[in-house]
Amino acid sequence: MAIPLLDLKAQYNSIKDELESAVLEVLRGGRYILGPKVEEFEKTVAEYCGVKYAVGVANGTDALVLSLDALGVGPGDEVITSPFTFYASAESISRLGATPVFVDIDPKTYNLVAGHIEAKITPRTKAIIPVHIFGQPAEMDTINEIAAKHGLKVIEDACQAIGAAYRGKQVGSLGDAACFSFFPSKNLGGAGDGGIVVTNDEELAGRVRALRQHGSLKKYYHSFVGYNSRLDAVQAAILSVKVKYIDTWNDARRQKAQYYNELFAGTNVITPVALEHVRHVYHLYIVRVPNRADVEAALKAEGIGHGVYYPVPLHLQDVYKNLGYQVGDLPVSEAASHETLAIPLYPELKEEDMRTIADLVKNAVSALSAVD
Ligand SMILES: *Cc1c(COP(=O)(O)O)cnc(C)c1O
Repeated sequence: MAIPLLDLKAQYNSIKDELESAVLEVLRGGRYILGPKVEEFEKTVAEYCGVKYAVGVANGTDALVLSLDALGVGPGDEVITSPFTFYASAESISRLGATPVFVDIDPKTYNLVAGHIEAKITPRTKAIIPVHIFGQPAEMDTINEIAAKHGLKVIEDACQAIGAAYRGKQVGSLGDAACFSFFPSKNLGGAGDGGIVVTNDEELAGRVRALRQHGSLKKYYHSFVGYNSRLDAVQAAILSVKVKYIDTWNDARRQKAQYYNELFAGTNVITPVALEHVRHVYHLYIVRVPNRADVEAALKAEGIGHGVYYPVPLHLQDVYKNLGYQVGDLPVSEAASHETLAIPLYPELKEEDMRTIADLVKNAVSALSAVD
């Protein structure tokens, strides 16, 4: 019996009529770029995050690039981020000609260790991009304190974490700006690419708004070099429907994560650790096992979806060879890249299927212990 890592069709079927009429409304209305649907969605997301401004852009990567650009990050600058994340967290920095500086992660939460940041700050450091990895917020209090002390900007990479919270505050409201992705597999996903920048800073919001339209606020008048990076009206219409369900879906993810935790209790399978003061939204459910290849083979044999996030930490990627990092420089990230595995988790996943998956993982791990 095949079980996917993520079942997007199940979600679509659960709200099919609403989604289809929202898309048809855009098609029939004839307003396809920006316009009222995008504005309505931006307003909803700003309110949801508890911030003043939201600017829809083409994808989460561009949300990061445009935020960094709007903050004036450019060649010669350094931006501190995590090595254990999707490449776009660092690629956005490199895209502007700046240099990513990697700080190792915590072995339990996989988020960057705030206490390691200060040692990496130089006169060229401009900003910190904490990534709320797998849906768990980074240690924002410490990160903001360090940023304030050194005059740095903080951009949350919240692409995996819409709806998550830190000490009662929604992610998106915890730094100078925050970036979300609506890539289909994210907790809130469109039927294509999409992203958004949220902030309380009016000037920053205005600058991102201009950047997404060729550096222009008034049509055919251009103040600076920008991008063509807008959220499509069709995506905004779809996302406006889906955002109404995000808390319900995230609650279901949390409840199912809890169930997996119970199924794995007392075994050698290390389960995700959710900190007390955060609301984790489990974009991915990550287990840590000593023999990952065996576990992958066992799941594959039964047609069960799984994925490695991420097999190569960013400091060891080919693209960053010139930065001079060596194997062993960021050992916690390196170990995580060898031992972690995502197993299926989505709101519609059945408990019966979860038991099947957990049994396969447990058996593959205890087979190893028996050999020892
Ligand atoms: C998905 C993701 C991005 C990029 O978002 P896209 O919409 O795919 O461009 C950036 N950072 C993280 C952590 C992500 O998971």
